[in-house]
Amino acid sequence: MEFIMGSYQYSSYDKPTLNLLVPDRWKQLRQDMNLFRSVEPEVKIIGYTQPTEELRKKGVTTDTLPAYTARHCYESFDKYSQDPKKDNELDKDLTRRLINMGHTTPLQAIEFTFDIYGTSKSLQAQWTRHKIGVGWSYRSTRFVEASGNKFVYNIYDYISDVDKVKKLLRIDEEHAKRAIGDYNKKRDLGSTKQDARKIMPVEFATDCSFFANARALRHLFDLRLAKKAEWEIRRMSGMILEEVMKITPTIFEDICNNTFGKLKKD
Ligand SMILES: Cc1cc2nc3c(=O)[nH]c(=O)nc-3n(C[C@H](O)[C@H](O)[C@H](O)COP(=O)(O)OP(=O)(O)OC[C@H]3O[C@@H](n4cnc5c(N)ncnc54)[C@H](O)[C@@H]3O)c2cc1C
Repeated sequence: MEFIMGSYQYSSYDKPTLNLLVPDRWKQLRQDMNLFRSVEPEVKIIGYTQPTEELRKKGVTTDTLPAYTARHCYESFDKYSQDPKKDNELDKDLTRRLINMGHTTPLQAIEFTFDIYGTSKSLQAQWTRHKIGVGWSYRSTRFVEASGNKFVYNIYDYISDVDKVKKLLRIDEEHAKRAIGDYNKKRDLGSTKQDARKIMPVEFATDCSFFANARALRHLFDLRLAKKAEWEIRRMSGMILEEVMKITPTIFEDICNNTFGKLKKD
């Protein structure tokens, strides 16, 4: 196996539509208000598992690598026709069947790596509760100076009065400014970084690399794309889904259809 950079386009299915998932009606307002150190989220896939050249020649792709491995279970390699295109379709069918019956261990064949920017410390606290098949490299605020911190502002999509939203955002902004001022004062008085950082509000932004196998991602989507999930983690999960759909659509198409198909009907 090797990791490669890059992405492909997908063309069918109920595509992830962030605005449907998390309506962000005040995004332009946040920009127009020029809020103190405001940052918006960004998700980039930076690596993923690729089959070896030998398998690629046979038509196996990242999307169908799990199905290829599952053929050991049924000794069904003889189903292949030796036509890479046909065999790829055969493996897509098998992938759908594996997912339907809950035979999902083969999905662990695929590992993704993402760079994720502009999500809050509060999101980190929820997200890092997941343990199985996932991992992170997070910026350390013990060692990195926090005086340059940026902030993730709330979307307040449930409020329709623009004046109220402006007032709320200004409260969040004052909080952020005060935190940076107090952090700097503490540092000037001799506090270590690790003691000074403790006055930071949970909306400060932090960047990371995130590692997950495809099976663990499906579980994460199940919990974090759900309506009851918190809006920020839901928005980020939608962005991750957009990314993986470019590479492994067969593995995540049912999640797209269930999530976005339902939202369209509502
Ligand atoms: C909407 C929502 C609200 C939440 N609210 C709260 C809250 O108020 N307070 C709070 O503390 N947490 C809360 N959580 C966090 C939640 O309890 C989980 O800790 C978190 O979602 C991680 O999920 P997971 O355990 O499935 O982890 P994963 O690591 O993703 O686990 C994958 C699967 O492995 C199995 N597994 C993992 N660990 C174990 C284990 N130790 N023993 C047996 N089986 C295991 C389970 O089948 C699990 O589903 C909330 C989560 C959601 C989605």
